[in-house]
Amino acid sequence: MADPLILAGSGSARTPASDPDDQNPDPVGERAPVDSPPVSGPNTSYDPVEVAALAPEAVESAVDAALSAIAQADSLEDLKAIRPAHQGDKSPLALANREIGALPPSAKADAGKRVGQARGRVGQAFAARQAELEAERDERVLREETLDLTQTSGRRPLGRRHPIELMSQRIADLFVGMGWEIAEGPEVEAEWFNFDALNFDADHPARQMQDTFYVDPRERGLILRTHTSPVQARAMLERGVPLYVAAIGRVFRTDELDATHMPAFHQVEGLAVDEGITMAHLKGTLDRLATELFGEGITTRLRPSFFPFTEPSAEMDLRCFVCRGEDAACRTCGGTGWIEWGGCGMVNRNVLTAVGVDPDRYTGFAFGMGIDRALMFRTGVSDMRDMIEGDVRFDAQFGMEI
Ligand SMILES: [Zn+2]
Repeated sequence: MADPLILAGSGSARTPASDPDDQNPDPVGERAPVDSPPVSGPNTSYDPVEVAALAPEAVESAVDAALSAIAQADSLEDLKAIRPAHQGDKSPLALANREIGALPPSAKADAGKRVGQARGRVGQAFAARQAELEAERDERVLREETLDLTQTSGRRPLGRRHPIELMSQRIADLFVGMGWEIAEGPEVEAEWFNFDALNFDADHPARQMQDTFYVDPRERGLILRTHTSPVQARAMLERGVPLYVAAIGRVFRTDELDATHMPAFHQVEGLAVDEGITMAHLKGTLDRLATELFGEGITTRLRPSFFPFTEPSAEMDLRCFVCRGEDAACRTCGGTGWIEWGGCGMVNRNVLTAVGVDPDRYTGFAFGMGIDRALMFRTGVSDMRDMIEGDVRFDAQFGMEI
C-alpha cells in the first residue's frame, strides 16, 4: 500500500494536461472551463477596467440602484419582487461576476474584490430590509389580531324573570281582570300603619308575636312591614271608598332562614270595601285566586281564626292537590288533606273607623296569602332558600312567561 502523504505530494504537482486519467476531484478553480480562453500564458492585452460590466463606476452604480430599490421596498412582497433584478443570475452584479472568469490572473483579484464587496453590500442591505419588514409585519399582525380575553362572549345566556315575580304578575293580572286596582306601599313602614291602624293595641301580644324588625332608633316608630296589610289602611286613606285593591309585596319577620322559613317573603293582600260586601264575596274571590294559581277543581275551606284587623276572621286552606286527602303519609299536606294558605276575614269596624270610613254603611273583606308558599305548592320547590339565592339555574327552570 502506498504512503498517502507521498501520494498527496505528488498529486499537487500534477497538471490536468499531464495526467488526463486522474480520477481525483480538482480543487475549486484550478481546472479551467473547457470553453474558456487558454490560460497557458498571460493575457496582457485584456484590461479589466475596460470591461464595461466590471468598471468601478458600473459596479458602484449597480450597488446604488440596488440600495435605492431596497430602501423603497415597503413590503415583503415588494422586496421579493425586486430581488431578481439585483441579486438574480441576470442582475448587473452577477453578470459582472461572470466576467471575472475571463480576466487574466493578474486582474482577477482586484475585480473579484470589487464585485465581491459590492455583492456583499447588496446582500446585507437585502437582509437588513427583510428583517425590518418582517418586524413591521409581526408588529402589525400582533396589533391587528389582538384578542381581548376580557371581552364577554356575544352568546350570553338570556336572563330569566324570577318565579316569584312571574307569579306576582299573574296574580296582579287576575285582579286587574276583575276590575281591581294594584296598590303599593313602603317596605319600611310606620309602626302606626302596620299595627295601630289595623287595631293592634300598643301592648297587643301580636306585636311581639310577629317578631318584628324595628328600625333604629326605635323611637322613630319605623319597622320593616310584617305584612302587606298596612297597604289596606293607606289605600282607604288615599283613595276613599268604595275600594277594590290588591297589594303584592315583600314582608319581613325575624324568622330563621331554613328550608321552610325565610325572614323575607311575599304576600298578596286584597281589600274590598263597598256597600253590601259579605263573606260570600270573600270566598268567591279567594276561590278564583286559588283556581288561577293551582288549577281547576281546587277545593278550599275557611276555618275560624283570629286577627285584630278582621272580624270574623278565618284561615283559608286548600284541599291537598297531591293526595286529595287520601294519603295519610302525604308529605305536601302532612297527611291532613289540607294545606294552610293564608288569613282572611271581614274588615274590623275599628279599622274602618280608624281611616274615616263609616262602618254602618260600608263593609269589606281582606285577605293575605303567601306567594312563596304558593310557589312551593305549585312547583314542588322543596327548599325556600333556593328562591332567594339568585342562582339563574333555578330561575331558568320556570321558563319564560311574557
Ligand atoms: Zn296531601
